[in-house]
Amino acid sequence: MRTAEIKRRFLAHFEANGHAVVPSAPLPAISDPNLLFINAGMVQFVPYFLGQQTPPYRRAASVQKCIRTPDIDEVGKTSRHGTFFQMNGNFSFGDYFKAEAIPLAWDLSTKPVEQGGFGLDPERVWPTVYLDDDEAYEIWRGVGVPADRIVRRGKADNFWSMGIPGPCGPCSELFYDRGPSYGREGGPEVDEDRYLEFWNLVFMQFERGPGAGKEDWPILGDLPAKNIDTGMGLERMASILQGVDNLYEIDEVRPILDRAAALTGKRYGANSSHVASESHPDDVRLRVVADHVRTALMLIGDGVTPSNEGRGYVLRRIMRRAIRAMRLMGYQDRALPELLPVARDCMSPSYPELATDFDRISQYAYAEEDAFLSTLRAGTTILDTAIAETKAAGGANLSGAKAFQLHDTYGFPIDLTLEIAAEQGLKVDDEGFRRLMADQRSRAKADAQARKTGHVDTSVYRSALDAGGPVLFSGYTETEREST
Ligand code: ATP
Ligand code: MG
Ligand code: MG
Ligand code: MG
Repeated sequence: MRTAEIKRRFLAHFEANGHAVVPSAPLPAISDPNLLFINAGMVQFVPYFLGQQTPPYRRAASVQKCIRTPDIDEVGKTSRHGTFFQMNGNFSFGDYFKAEAIPLAWDLSTKPVEQGGFGLDPERVWPTVYLDDDEAYEIWRGVGVPADRIVRRGKADNFWSMGIPGPCGPCSELFYDRGPSYGREGGPEVDEDRYLEFWNLVFMQFERGPGAGKEDWPILGDLPAKNIDTGMGLERMASILQGVDNLYEIDEVRPILDRAAALTGKRYGANSSHVASESHPDDVRLRVVADHVRTALMLIGDGVTPSNEGRGYVLRRIMRRAIRAMRLMGYQDRALPELLPVARDCMSPSYPELATDFDRISQYAYAEEDAFLSTLRAGTTILDTAIAETKAAGGANLSGAKAFQLHDTYGFPIDLTLEIAAEQGLKVDDEGFRRLMADQRSRAKADAQARKTGHVDTSVYRSALDAGGPVLFSGYTETEREST
């Protein structure tokens, strides 16, 4: 089943059950000063959940464009994380609750394809519930799930709150068992890549008080109006229904991956394992390219442009990671003019504005790539000189300070420094480099802390990009200033 059809069926199911179909909000989270990008379907409905505004409908459904940069390091290495993805959601604002939300999700998931459902084998679906949520447990039993496939999980997995005083509550997630060739048996507690989480049902039923972290706050009591907030990963459902191993192989992404493989002359999936973590590094790179190029397209499409701060900085780093991944597979030319039109063709059936607006989108993208390629050329010259000097002095190690300078001043990625130095028979003082990076990061963090005003610590964007990046470069301070 094509991704567009999954989306259509989802909305049709909820519309038939009295939900207003609401369009996706644009990716930049302009309504929330603490969030760079929309990262879940519920974000545009927050004022309704908090009781700050009265919704014009009691139930709604949407397919929300999402960005999760904190997942960037997972891309390509797990089967299920994209930096961009679409979250299908149904929402109840003080209307129905668990007793209706669970059967609504179960029916759509397991109803035969001929009858408009997704046709999942009910015996492969594993719901989870929060430790003491007997109510949800009984409803799952009631729709026919046997006790040994309902897993109780703790606060870290199955309790939701926004991080501020207000609504919170248990959640219940649906996992699909993809079978023994995808990993170890035993349910989602054992292997979250074999047992693929595809839907999260959040039951907002309590009000929480102030406090930090996951545990450190009191539950004050029941909410006057209970809400439902759900999110089903569109790409994850597509990977299940299309019988592919991961979300980079679905119809909306795979053509980009194939084009990257053709350009680099790599054969994707040469090792036949279904398990993402066993993939060849080039397979991971091809997935990164496919994911990041699509993300860049969607971001520029929604008005983000590359820059050194805030949202534009996230976009810049995502684009550079894609270009770097191509470079690591031996491709030196301009890649985006080859890849971006493929991404457009994948996505424009669902988002026609990507086609009509493509001239503008591609101009930003191609100019950014050209600028990065000249950075790489300039950095390479400086690095070549440093290598020659090190060798002339009889050294075997390029200094950490030089690697840091290349990174910090010239935006030259560390993994490239390592690669080029290795080609010349030199090591890089990795420890020295990391120490300088850590110093810089703690300076930026102290800075950000001092400025922090809101409830969401957006430094997570930065630290995730850093932790995940083979591409590391400066500009944290600007990012923080924009986003906190
Ligand atoms: P995971 O544990 O796999 O990282 P999650 O628990 O963080 O997922 P939720 O916050 O519950 O995800 O989001 C709701 C749904 O959105 C998930 O059940 C999943 O189907 C989908 N989803 C979440 N993150 C991603 C992502 N990075 N790429 C694609 N789909 C995602
Ligand atoms: Mg996650
Ligand atoms: Mg999860
Ligand atoms: Mg979840």
